[in-house]
Amino acid sequence: MNERLILVLDAGTTSTRAMLYAPDGARVATAQADLTQYYPRPGWVEHDAAEIWDRTLDCARRMVTQAGGADRIAAIGITNQRETVVAWSRRTGAPLSRAIVWQDRRTADHCEQLREQGHEALIQQRTGLIIDPYFSATKMRWLIDHQPQVAAAGPDLALGTVESWLMWKLTGGLHVSDASNASRTQLLALDGAGWDADLCALFGVPASALPEIVDNAGAFGATLPTLLGGAIPLCGLAGDQQAATIGQACLAPGAVKATLGTGAFILASTGDMLPSSTHRLLGTVLCQLGGRRLYAMEGSIFVAGSLIQWLRDRLGLIAAAADSDAIARSVPDNGGVYLLPALSGLGAPYWRPEATGSISGLTHGSTRAHIVRAALESMAHQVHDLAAAFAADGAPWQALRIDGGMSANDWVAQDMADMLALPVERPADVETTARGAAMLASVGAGLYPTLEAATAMVPARTRFTPAMTDEDRSRRLAGWRSLVAASL
Ligand code: ADP
Repeated sequence: MNERLILVLDAGTTSTRAMLYAPDGARVATAQADLTQYYPRPGWVEHDAAEIWDRTLDCARRMVTQAGGADRIAAIGITNQRETVVAWSRRTGAPLSRAIVWQDRRTADHCEQLREQGHEALIQQRTGLIIDPYFSATKMRWLIDHQPQVAAAGPDLALGTVESWLMWKLTGGLHVSDASNASRTQLLALDGAGWDADLCALFGVPASALPEIVDNAGAFGATLPTLLGGAIPLCGLAGDQQAATIGQACLAPGAVKATLGTGAFILASTGDMLPSSTHRLLGTVLCQLGGRRLYAMEGSIFVAGSLIQWLRDRLGLIAAAADSDAIARSVPDNGGVYLLPALSGLGAPYWRPEATGSISGLTHGSTRAHIVRAALESMAHQVHDLAAAFAADGAPWQALRIDGGMSANDWVAQDMADMLALPVERPADVETTARGAAMLASVGAGLYPTLEAATAMVPARTRFTPAMTDEDRSRRLAGWRSLVAASL
């Protein structure tokens, strides 16, 4: 092993990981550590930023040791849970409060106020985002209003998302955020170079506390030599869903990926065209290189793999998630059974948080297999509806690239191809988020001249081609649509 490696730090929601990649894209080692989740009140979700840093550093050290020392590593790439907000002291480098996690709903009232005051159109047009507690700006304001240490910090206050926090700790004081993460704060205009003064004033966030916005790849700085046994260049940064889109090589306009995990995140590149939706899809920065931005349209499905967990843990219909494949195949069709998986409301394109799930079409002939099959079929139905919304917004799909835990299910992959009437592709290694960060770091370190060239790091894909008759597809869609109509 003579070539130098890329170290990726993936600071996720439930765990932090570090991975080593060879320049050809092969993943050679992985370390993982779980992260404590704090739920101090209903709807509140917090992390300890010091723990995020400690776990990340620990995983990074294990990988550096495995690589054979800091000089064996060409560059570091960072990817992270998006929107989560950290407040820390510029003087001490210590957190001033717990981090507020993206799932946290505590700022719902503030968001409602902004909506009532009529700010939604401006915010959506400028940032591509709807008003929702999900995004960082109201979380930042909440910290300033409710955390005495944050309020008292004055010019000492540093605010940032998780990649920004890690960059500060790794370099000993560099305060930067990349454009993909910055575009999730609601303080960056999609086509604006820096923080938007109007939006900072509207949300009450002082721009002086915010990081400098930088590209997603470049020579940002180096690690303090004491941390990892040498000064390793920091060369790639991206929010997790953007990193996964890059890791799936979805760079050209229309290229789209679906990460099928607990929920499902679907991002389609719009190239250098500003995304704009009339179907409540989000517009976001995919990446910025040499100051030039690529954009993406984004839609989220709240319930994907968690439906399979529900079948297993609550209904006891399956013993393991992977069994769902064979059970769905054991019947020739769904027997007229349809399932609406609105276990925690319905996301895009419906945005009906109050919706609940239902099962229709049960008869004496219905079996466990029909219900399991209906559950798996609901994935393709939801993705089909999102595909229609993307197409209506001028971003039709040509093929869908899938990753995430549920993408391992061949039956689901084939059913999606059948229902979308499009090829569905799955890479040999579905760890696309970290791969995207490795690609960005490789570009930032000069190992590849462009992001397009770095797609050489993407592994071969299995292709699922549509094989369903139009008649079967129409029958399925009719059954699904009548269930959706009855339930909403
Ligand atoms: P996350 O990153 O959101 O934690 P993962 O990408 O690890 O999620 O995917 C885990 C989810 O995938 C679980 O909800 C699980 O039920 C589902 N899953 C895993 N394997 C399969 C399978 N073979 N068939 C269907 N669902 C699966």
